[in-house]
Amino acid sequence: MHLKLRERGIDEEELATSFKELKKNDLDWESGRTFGFVYYPGEHAARVIMNAYNSFFFENGLNPTVFKSLRRMENEVVSMIASLLNAPDGAVGHLTSGGTESIICAMKASQKFHNKIAHPNIVIAETAHPAFNKAADLLNIQVRTVACKGKIPTPDISEIEYVIDENTIMLVGSAPCYPNGLIDPLEELSGLALRKNIWLHVDACLGGFILPFLEQLGAKIPAFDFRLPAVSSISVDIHKYGYGAKGSSVVLYRNAELRKKQYFVHTSWPGGVYASPSLTGTRSGGAIASAWAIMNYFGMKGYRDKAQETLHAARKIQKAISQSNELEIVGDPLATVFSFISKGRIDVYDLADELLSRGWHLDKQMKPPSLHITVSIGNIPYVDEFIADLEASVEKIKY
Ligand SMILES: *Cc1c(COP(=O)(O)O)cnc(C)c1O
Repeated sequence: MHLKLRERGIDEEELATSFKELKKNDLDWESGRTFGFVYYPGEHAARVIMNAYNSFFFENGLNPTVFKSLRRMENEVVSMIASLLNAPDGAVGHLTSGGTESIICAMKASQKFHNKIAHPNIVIAETAHPAFNKAADLLNIQVRTVACKGKIPTPDISEIEYVIDENTIMLVGSAPCYPNGLIDPLEELSGLALRKNIWLHVDACLGGFILPFLEQLGAKIPAFDFRLPAVSSISVDIHKYGYGAKGSSVVLYRNAELRKKQYFVHTSWPGGVYASPSLTGTRSGGAIASAWAIMNYFGMKGYRDKAQETLHAARKIQKAISQSNELEIVGDPLATVFSFISKGRIDVYDLADELLSRGWHLDKQMKPPSLHITVSIGNIPYVDEFIADLEASVEKIKY
């Protein structure tokens, strides 16, 4: 039995009541108790992006020649991110609906670039985002996955070299990866990619809006962007640490020749020439405008300040974890994303359940059993409360 569209609609007031009811069992992100999912930029900035979204709510990014405002904002957003990531002058890019789309676009471009290879493959670390597997599934590309072992679980460059062959069309490095926030050995990957003449994609979906600012603050961050000569493309999410509205990410290419492979054109349609650079057709003007708005609203200093506060909060949590006798941080995370494991006496999944009963949501991860934390601005005011609950939860499940 399907739900029938009601004959007579309900009014706004009733809708508002329904929303309240619908949200009742959601994660309580507003009190900073989820790590990830929601990147709340604070009250003022939230108003800025919501207003920007509403100002371009009805505009459509489908055809860049129709709404010149959207084209201009998109070009400026792409250009600002390109310079943030040390792109050379000829670098170009495109706004997409999210990291997944950015990654699919880059893989499609690489596949087209290597159109003579009948059975292409890509090589990724097991910590790479599943968007690469999803893209591979869509594009019929084989994925060769390299394990991440040891004290600092990043992929081993010799293992990557071992699985490369003449059909490898892309190497992938994450900056950082999602599961434990570690940055892949990108310098070595770049060297390998140069030597073998393979397209290197850097997935900076998570790090693109945090690593450059930590660097400006003096943190020692290894080169992760276009400074590495083999990097052909980079994905960066604005809707994560860029604090834009959901539905905004950028894919960048070292030059226009590479980007051209991402494009789709159909010329024989009765409706006219249909050209589309990315996967979407109709696109929300709101997401474009809010990306442009938040970047201009924060500016370099705003992002730098947020990065500093966020890093401070992350370090505080990490310190509490390291000082507990039961838990241990995985590897040496440089940014504000990390995971932690049990030293053996407690079960981290039980810990996650206990924390959830106190309202805190942490992702449970596998290989090794660990809990994930992405710290963003919305968490900052609640860090002390979290640490207290974390310590109490450890004590509670220990016996
Ligand atoms: C979030 C994320 C993605 C995918 O982005 P979506 O916006 O969820 O599609 C890809 N890579 C990394 C490292 C991510 O954190």
